[in-house]
Amino acid sequence: MMENVVVLLNRDLRVHDHPALAAACAHARHVVPLFVVDPALSAGPRTAFLAESLADLRESLRGRGGDLAVRWGDPVAQAVRLAREVSAQGVYVSEDVSALARRRQRLLAEECERNRMEFLTFPGVTIVPPGALRPSGGGDHYRVFTPYWRAWSDHRRRRVLDAPEKVSFPEGVEAGPLPVSRRASHGLFRGGETVARERMRQWLKYCVDDYADGHDDLAGNRTSKLGPYLRFGCLSPLELESLSEGGADFVRQLCWRDFFHQVTLAFPRINRDDYRPRGQVWRDDRDAAQAWKEGRTGVPIVDAGMRQLLAEGWMHNRARMLTASFLVRRLQVDWRVGAEHFFGLLFDGDVPNNYGNWQWVAGTGNDTRPNRIVNPVRQARRFDPEGEYIRRYLPELDAVPIKMIYEPWRLPRGVRGYPAPLVSMD
Ligand code: FAD
Repeated sequence: MMENVVVLLNRDLRVHDHPALAAACAHARHVVPLFVVDPALSAGPRTAFLAESLADLRESLRGRGGDLAVRWGDPVAQAVRLAREVSAQGVYVSEDVSALARRRQRLLAEECERNRMEFLTFPGVTIVPPGALRPSGGGDHYRVFTPYWRAWSDHRRRRVLDAPEKVSFPEGVEAGPLPVSRRASHGLFRGGETVARERMRQWLKYCVDDYADGHDDLAGNRTSKLGPYLRFGCLSPLELESLSEGGADFVRQLCWRDFFHQVTLAFPRINRDDYRPRGQVWRDDRDAAQAWKEGRTGVPIVDAGMRQLLAEGWMHNRARMLTASFLVRRLQVDWRVGAEHFFGLLFDGDVPNNYGNWQWVAGTGNDTRPNRIVNPVRQARRFDPEGEYIRRYLPELDAVPIKMIYEPWRLPRGVRGYPAPLVSMD
């Protein structure tokens, strides 16, 4: 039995099904769960969500006799400093895939070796650990979703772990102040495992059965909105999967999340470089990009999506696809411009899913049909047949007859300042 172990937390802000925390509680007399607030990383609208998630985690650790240590600065330096302070024999983390996370893990491993501490990584960020599945034809990861989905579905799962009953925090260690966000908490998403678990229960009880029919309905609120909770690890994706009986379509989406994590592990520059370079020359049209960001392209379905993002820090998946496609295909603006904008505003914005999906849409990623074009007018008719979604975010089109609302070229000019379409849509 070890005396003290530090668990450095990052995207695993929960006590349920937390392999690193569970192992620390099993191996050591005292456990120091630690979160380091890195001022170099501004999380935009996610700052409030993070602060709420940490407060909730501290609360539930205290309820188990433990605590959450919070420090500020560089995560590696702070983790090693605290580990030395408590003479820890080990530092545990949940393994993650972004370039930043892997650099942190590498440096931490080096520092632990230098200080003769055990450094261990654990699963928990995804359902199947990234890197666990290799295509039979060779290669270090799956490039195409469908064969990955098959292998993923057959892969053995680890056991879902209970929350530790008791966490013993060493005496004399200062817990440290929690971050306080200056932004008001967002109405749609309040951070923390407690809220996450309640939402998960409601979702599984009342809504998941409707997912296959409803997930593409733009105006309906028929997807789980669990994205931000998965992004910060307030929920275990494995536990969510294990409870999603009968929700095959929903589980398939969770598999997409794992898919992009294993792509990111193999290609950590996913947020910068083309995964599959195609020699595309992008237009440097800042005015067009700005109009797109503000939801002023003159194409109602695109503008509705972009304004939903600005207003809520969230956008429906179908709208993410068609707004992204509009930027890269119609405006021919670099996917990186759009991806940065999304990443800065989304509550669920993360590296694998955001950049993986952007590259998929741009044809530089994992789509087997990289020249696919999404027609926004057809999409609007199909997925917003009453124009309810468009009108919700573009109140200036309230009085415009439904027939005209999809077709930018038919909109009467001068509808309370609504712009003419940036590009021809016929
Ligand atoms: P649900 O439909 O209820 O799905 C449940 C969960 O499955 C999601 O929370 C998510 O974790 C996962 N999931 C669903 N669809 C996808 C997908 N296509 N790829 C990967 N995982 C998926 N998702 C993010 O989590 N973070 C992002 O930064 C992000 N950026 C995106 C950018 C673009 C251009 C596009 C087209 C999609 C992006 N997505 C991203 C995927 C998807 O749009 C969101 O996961 C989903 O809309 C979140 O809402 P929800 O939680 O209600 O999802």
